[in-house]
Amino acid sequence: MKKWLRVRDETCRFPGCSHPAVKSDVDHTDDWAGGGRTDSDNLAHLCEPHHRLKHLSQWRVTQEPGGILLWTSPGKRSYRTDPATPMGPPRPQPPVVEPKTRKRPADDTYLVPRHRPTRQPTPPAPDNPPF
Ligand SMILES: [Zn+2]
Repeated sequence: MKKWLRVRDETCRFPGCSHPAVKSDVDHTDDWAGGGRTDSDNLAHLCEPHHRLKHLSQWRVTQEPGGILLWTSPGKRSYRTDPATPMGPPRPQPPVVEPKTRKRPADDTYLVPRHRPTRQPTPPAPDNPPF
């Protein structure tokens, strides 16, 4: 997701900033501490000074679908920043599948036949056959 966000954003997403995304922080638009999700539609790159400004000033930001950020300055002016590369959501990561292993049972029961033979042993032939 980090790489995907870097391609989407290319730069810091603060209005007018061109600091490269690769040298920026990934910020939770809705603060993680306040329950914001770690998801592509709640993450955006901010350079360190703008990341600090977002958290320590009256600047406010919301994120629209497609990674569009709507900023409101302390003076109540609105700014919109669009992603450099509009993209659909990243593909979900496939679950990690462990290699198949043959597990033995914890005890020796696997050595005992699961079903007993149904045939009775053949009785011995009589000593004096009838022929
Ligand atoms: Zn910036």
